[in-house]
Amino acid sequence: MNVLQEYLEALADAEQRPDKREEKALTSWAELQFRLRGGGRCSICHASVRHVLPVHAEHLDGSEADYKCLCTRCLQAERVTSERLVMRVGRARLEFLRKPEERKATQKFKAIRLRR
Ligand SMILES: [Zn+2]
Repeated sequence: MNVLQEYLEALADAEQRPDKREEKALTSWAELQFRLRGGGRCSICHASVRHVLPVHAEHLDGSEADYKCLCTRCLQAERVTSERLVMRVGRARLEFLRKPEERKATQKFKAIRLRR
């Protein structure tokens, strides 16, 4: 159980904690799936993943992607390039929005690039 907890906590920080009940529902579901069927493979790098949770990513460039599951590293990478990440199983749903300071940093980066 701790592995997935860490996985989810790697995405959230103190002021952006996802709903505890939703998180618990997803954690329990993923753990049950693991016990029934074993883990899966990361949709991007094919590393083995203990907890299979589908991820929907809305990228900064407006494109969207759906993954069957992602390893921690690829999930972090998706988070950096996404405006929104959603992990959903049934009615339980975890959403990670881009932090305002990251948004500002991206705008600054864009402004610098446009000036050239
Ligand atoms: Zn991966």
